[in-house]
Amino acid sequence: MNYLSTRDTVRTSPVSAAHAIKEGLAPDGGLYLPETVPTLTRADFDALCRMDYPARAAFVLSRFLDDYAPEDLAADCRAAYAPDRFPGGCAPIHTLAGDIHALELWHGPTSAFKDMALQIMPRLLSRALAMTGERRIAHILVATSGDTGKAALEGYRDVDGAKITVFYPVDGVSLMQKRQMQTTAGGNVNVVAVRGNFDDAQNGVKAIFSDPDLARRANDAGFFFSSANSINWGRLVPQIVYYLSAYCDLVNAGRLSFGDRVNIAVPTGNFGNIFAAYLAYRMGLPAARFLCASNRNNVLADFLATGIYDRTREFHKTISPSMDILISSNLERLLSFLGGPHTTRALMASLKTAGKYEAPADLMEKIRDSFSGGFLDEDGTRAVIRDTWRDEGYLLDPHTAVGLGCVKNYRAATGDGTPVILASTASPYKFAPAVASAIGLPPLADDDVFALLRRLSAETGTEIPAPLAAVETLPVRFTAVISPDEMPGIPFSS
Ligand SMILES: *Cc1c(COP(=O)(O)O)cnc(C)c1O
Repeated sequence: MNYLSTRDTVRTSPVSAAHAIKEGLAPDGGLYLPETVPTLTRADFDALCRMDYPARAAFVLSRFLDDYAPEDLAADCRAAYAPDRFPGGCAPIHTLAGDIHALELWHGPTSAFKDMALQIMPRLLSRALAMTGERRIAHILVATSGDTGKAALEGYRDVDGAKITVFYPVDGVSLMQKRQMQTTAGGNVNVVAVRGNFDDAQNGVKAIFSDPDLARRANDAGFFFSSANSINWGRLVPQIVYYLSAYCDLVNAGRLSFGDRVNIAVPTGNFGNIFAAYLAYRMGLPAARFLCASNRNNVLADFLATGIYDRTREFHKTISPSMDILISSNLERLLSFLGGPHTTRALMASLKTAGKYEAPADLMEKIRDSFSGGFLDEDGTRAVIRDTWRDEGYLLDPHTAVGLGCVKNYRAATGDGTPVILASTASPYKFAPAVASAIGLPPLADDDVFALLRRLSAETGTEIPAPLAAVETLPVRFTAVISPDEMPGIPFSS
């Protein structure tokens, strides 16, 4: 199977999956998409439903990554989704009232859903380097506002052929996030605090990527710079698996009969997770609608309502920070998939120069055939956490709460009671201060985050995820604080 850029209008330069994963971004600035989407037969589904999660993952990945040896994919999936990495199961389901099935994607090493992709993606990259004859080390650079950094560190640590450096704004991440990163194990990882905000760290990384002189120096030293961005196909394809897996689990449990339709609701930021759900549907998952849930940064909800994507608006910091995004990069994949590369090229040019674009009416019609948008403000999000805890004894993190709130609003507005698979993207403990306050626990006097976790656990009778609890006693390994202009030297000093 070959891959083309979302902006490739001549369609003459297809690349292999290994190439797409090694490069990340296409040379024309577009994102890689498979030329066709493989479809699953009824027999394929029956087979999938009998497999465990690692086997399901290898099965789906091998359909898209057909240049990889199936036995390599099987070995990588076994290692990535092993019980010691996902002690609570890979993607278990908790069913809520009204046939809403919360798909818990946060039982991995960092307690958020990005582990589902970042545990396997570095292995896919490592193979891609070998398959393309690359002898240099891939030095992954990440600027993070918190969650991605830790998930990338856990994914890349001790992976052959790769090194990783994560830069975070010194006062721009939560205490828990900082400690999670500072305590990462592994011989090929580095974590550095940057004086400044997230944009300073991000701009510093971008500057390193675009400096030909640094690229030359890196080459001489035997490595090249690479990113762990969510625009990489290697991060998107593992996310298709859990939607298919969830459907199988619901059929196996007798909650659905094969062929019954589901709606899929996803708390969305970069549009990667929901686009993966859509690809699962294009493979044959019996889905009806995709509910794209946003927080106050409701650029996607506006787009689905009006056809106008406008990032020139106020940015809001919310209690669901992983969705605080104004440019949803992966939306480009949907535009290209349904609207073709010419339209995509024009719209992306307009986004770059004007900060907005208007999608043609026929494209919006196709998008709205499958997608509905919604958004929830901060009070609404807190109310969903509070009510769901009170009425169902189930603790939600703020991102998942946005998703659930949007499901309820959608159902009230449309009367569409189709069963829902709701992507649950983080453990509530990852966002303990917001969750504790939403269910009415008084704040602690000092900001001892570990004491707060224990309080939340004691009050709710739920368990603190082991990886978060462990951070309290792990040794702090990384304490460097630098100014942004020192960033280019870091990859050469470690
Ligand atoms: C990254 C993230 C999201 C958004 O996912 P996208 O694929 O960017 O749409 C939602 N919730 C949590 C907890 C996340 O970490």
